[in-house]
Amino acid sequence: MTFADLGLSDDLLKAISDQGYDEPTPIQAKAIPHVLGGADVMGIAQTGTGKTAGFTLPMIDRLSNGRAKARMPRSLIICPTRELATQVAENFKLYGKYKKLTMALLIGGVAFGDQDRLIDRGVDVLIATPGRLLDHVERGKLVLLGVQILVVDEADRMLDMGFIPDVERICALVPAAGRQMLFFSATMAPEIKRLADKFLRDPVKVEVARQATTADTVAQHLVQVPPRQKRKALRHLLDQEEVNTSIIFCNRKRDVSDLFSALIRNGYSVGALHGDIPQNLRTETLDKFRNGELKMLVASDVAARGLDIPSVGHVFNFDLPMNAEDYVHRIGRTGRAGRTGTAYSFATEKDGKYLEAIEALIKKPIARLDIPGITEGTKADTAKSSNAKSDNAKSDDAKSADAKSERLKSESAKSDSTKSETAKSDDKPAPQKQADNRGERNNDRQNNNQRRTNNNDRNDQNNNRRGGRGRNRRDDLGPPVVGLGDHVPAFMLVSVAPAARSQKADSAKKDSAPAADDLTSQKADETASSPADNQTTDAA
Ligand code: AMP
Repeated sequence: MTFADLGLSDDLLKAISDQGYDEPTPIQAKAIPHVLGGADVMGIAQTGTGKTAGFTLPMIDRLSNGRAKARMPRSLIICPTRELATQVAENFKLYGKYKKLTMALLIGGVAFGDQDRLIDRGVDVLIATPGRLLDHVERGKLVLLGVQILVVDEADRMLDMGFIPDVERICALVPAAGRQMLFFSATMAPEIKRLADKFLRDPVKVEVARQATTADTVAQHLVQVPPRQKRKALRHLLDQEEVNTSIIFCNRKRDVSDLFSALIRNGYSVGALHGDIPQNLRTETLDKFRNGELKMLVASDVAARGLDIPSVGHVFNFDLPMNAEDYVHRIGRTGRAGRTGTAYSFATEKDGKYLEAIEALIKKPIARLDIPGITEGTKADTAKSSNAKSDNAKSDDAKSADAKSERLKSESAKSDSTKSETAKSDDKPAPQKQADNRGERNNDRQNNNQRRTNNNDRNDQNNNRRGGRGRNRRDDLGPPVVGLGDHVPAFMLVSVAPAARSQKADSAKKDSAPAADDLTSQKADETASSPADNQTTDAA
């Protein structure tokens, strides 16, 4: 099948050919004729399948006749994150270059004034994140009564981010009569089905490759590593591998910042991306990463979905994601459009249950990779987990990881004595044990922390909807300190014994000594972080 068979106009065929696309992808072949025909469509497709062109191409043709009125866009696409919205806008520009359609992008972190001016002029296509869109509606600057085509992109991500009530409000603001609705989602969760049943009319269901599949073009490796050795393991892989463009994912925004600073200090070409970074900086960083000015990106899950940068050759999960589906999305940033990619995931002993869930979702074991001197003796596997599986029935991935492991062993043996000295001192049993004990104590607090984090997530989502104002995120600051109020117990007012004082001075001296290497020195409190501490909720 060719694009010409789908009924698209010559202008579009020319723009498609400029992009070098030979034939439609399955989702495009299935969806485009229905969208062109004016039907409502429920598309089950993940990013990387070409779904953006699947709805933008026919939309451009459908909108090519008619004029936009001030403050009344003719079509609306809502996306869960600013990055995705920006990417859809870029697709629109590429495919619509031979048509005279106007477009505006409404995302948080950009001044309202500029956006108001664009909307005032009237736009054919409005691409927006839900919170910012509703802000404009509430301020009376935007009216959705003229929307003829409404697209909800990445509905499952909207659900994850708590945006479904906003999406529902937006759908209800668009008049039902004569409206075409297109819903795209990687999964059909009950809440999404409910929304689709409520707003779509006799939708045509088009479906391609399921979400739980990881691309065959991505070689996956699992590195089981003590928490304090993660940076060292990362540096080892960065230095051994031919790593060009890569994304390194952390679970917490604070860890994104810390790792970013450490990599910068070590001379790597790197940028950082998470939801609390101002939008202009996020855009600038992504542009630099896209055009190759920056080789690496340390990111939270804000970069996990939909980002389409074909040159990404490696993904590192510095932290194993707690949500198995995030694993699929993260590693899907590499191996795009038939290219090959490599994913390394670090797992600590506490990550057993997350690892189990990931391997259950992707239905195969991730090949284990040892890095001598760094990973020895660490097992993230739980009793049920699949090390046994992988030993019994080694996949091709596993075999290639074994070969890689052998290569790393011999390369590591060659490494200089300074490195092995550092490794020895990092592996000292005493601090490790101390940290483990602290980890156990933290487990006792875990349930309370989890409850607190859930509340914080809800607060964050409210903040997101309000454009992220007034954030004071506890999940970034760790568990709250329980104070004593005005009462100070008498024992705390007793003066410190001289011996204890001199001991304290000694340890203070030690603490202030410069770290030998920012990437090998890791804060002990990372070992003690509870799963609740690890939650990240990024603003859209
Ligand atoms: P998406 O799933 O929309 O994020 O698209 C993933 C990637 O596929 C993007 O880089 C598109 O440029 C690319 N793409 C979309 N349609 C085609 C096609 N028909 N042939 C080749 N690449 C395509």
